[in-house]
Amino acid sequence: MTSERTETALSVVIPMYNEEEALPALVARLRPVLDGIGAPYEVLAVDDGSADKTAELLGDLRHVWPELRVVRLRRNSGHQAALTAGLHRAVGAYVASIDADLQDPPEKIPEMLALALERDLDIVYGVRNDRSTDSGFKRRTAGVYYWMMRRLAGKQMPAQAGDFRLLSREAVEAIKSLPDQQQVYRLLVPWLGFPSGEVHYQRDERVAGETKYPLSKMIRLAVDSVTGFSAAPLRLATWLGVTSFFACLGLLVFTVVAYVAGKTVPGWTSLFVGVLFIGAVQLICVGLLGEYIGRIYTAVQRRPTYFVGYDSADPAGPVGAAD
Ligand code: UDP
Ligand code: MG
Repeated sequence: MTSERTETALSVVIPMYNEEEALPALVARLRPVLDGIGAPYEVLAVDDGSADKTAELLGDLRHVWPELRVVRLRRNSGHQAALTAGLHRAVGAYVASIDADLQDPPEKIPEMLALALERDLDIVYGVRNDRSTDSGFKRRTAGVYYWMMRRLAGKQMPAQAGDFRLLSREAVEAIKSLPDQQQVYRLLVPWLGFPSGEVHYQRDERVAGETKYPLSKMIRLAVDSVTGFSAAPLRLATWLGVTSFFACLGLLVFTVVAYVAGKTVPGWTSLFVGVLFIGAVQLICVGLLGEYIGRIYTAVQRRPTYFVGYDSADPAGPVGAAD
């Protein structure tokens, strides 16, 4: 499982977007943990087009932390795209990914590594035992999200496993070999089917700053998760169509019977409601189709989900290309 082509035992990928406030605390906690592993490691900080001082702070940190590699994306491309940029560049025999806000404890990384080595696992998930520190809204939306994903993508997806995990080189290479760029890793990784284990932890509060996942990004992630892993919504569209067809048929029979019985069906309200209902069903179905077509559109264009503007491992090299 351990690759010969690299001496780096562990890479730690950290996507960050406007994390200037969390960064000092992150380094203060992460660095001793990684130094304590006693094996060569690298930290891949992927700056997802931050508009604050994140890039500047990372530049300064590089002078004092030789294991730190900085990759900067040209614009804000999203958490999953930043993870892709990191995973594709990591060279370690194992690659961990962790959020920058210390909601996932870095102290669990050695535990993940030990578990993977001991049991020869390719994937170790960080599973949140307790989300009491998250807001009520976050917990409820996350609850719905994981419930829906497990229904759509299958039970192999552990509930409450976000993007804190450890991957073996083999698992990373499997991910890299996939042509699709629009990944949602918490679904893709279980789908790979490698032997996996879990490490449980308490989800802490964000150490500093605000969440970088506003509702719009949460919805985007949910839509990408569904369209990337299931065609069920398309079947739902069919079922909606069939159901409304039979409902209309029933209404038709009712109208004819009422007419024959000499009772005129009153008013245009029912007609109007019926028309609106059918219109709404059709628009929903077109919207659903649109989401899938949008995915196909991006895929056939082979348009990358991110562009690298700078890479400290190759500062003068050709930049701009994704992978
Ligand atoms: N993040 C990113 N790009 C984005 C949004 C978020 O790289 O467009 C990073 C962010 O800096 C953090 C991680 O993704 O390291 C998770 O984001 P956050 O903690 O804000 O999400 P939450 O924990 O609130 O769901
Ligand atoms: Mg967070």
